[in-house]
Amino acid sequence: MILKIVTAGDPILRAPSKPVSAGKIRQPEIQSLIDLMRETMREAPGVGLAAPQIGRSLQLAVIEDREETLRELPPAQLAERERKPVPFHVIVNPKLKLESAPELEFYEGCLSLPGLLALTPRARQVTVECLDHRGEPRIIRASGWYARILQHEIDHLHGALYIDRMRSRSLTSVDNYMRHWKDKSVAQAQKLLE
Ligand code: ZN
Repeated sequence: MILKIVTAGDPILRAPSKPVSAGKIRQPEIQSLIDLMRETMREAPGVGLAAPQIGRSLQLAVIEDREETLRELPPAQLAERERKPVPFHVIVNPKLKLESAPELEFYEGCLSLPGLLALTPRARQVTVECLDHRGEPRIIRASGWYARILQHEIDHLHGALYIDRMRSRSLTSVDNYMRHWKDKSVAQAQKLLE
């Protein structure tokens, strides 16, 4: 079963989510929610999905960057974005620490803002303290695209969207991104959008 993804304008995307206790995570209700969110994320397709995006105000997100997806992208793009496969996992009640300034810009999108992309500055490196799908404490040290995914998903749990952080003049439809921006370097895009 695929869950409905809520889009911008739904107040739940602007509300802070509630923490989930370790005991609650282990119960069938949250376990089946995790399964449904994984299925919904893969179907979309996306590399992350936060509970508010499917209408649940919980500090829980699923993340996965699949090898199959990466195989279809140009190696130069993967290298520039430091994008590598990330196995499926769950973050609950995450505490985010930026290990570098949020100044690395790439085009970013969101399943709750379909058809749009914008240059969005993010930290290259982060540390996240959270609980996993079994309610066990976990510390994640991430860099590159994975660090970007974590920052994006954790923003959702605090009622924030990438459009709050984007270089607003870079906002583009996916169609126009493919037509005008895909083959330009980020530095070129930044200069044209000054
Ligand atoms: Zn999103």
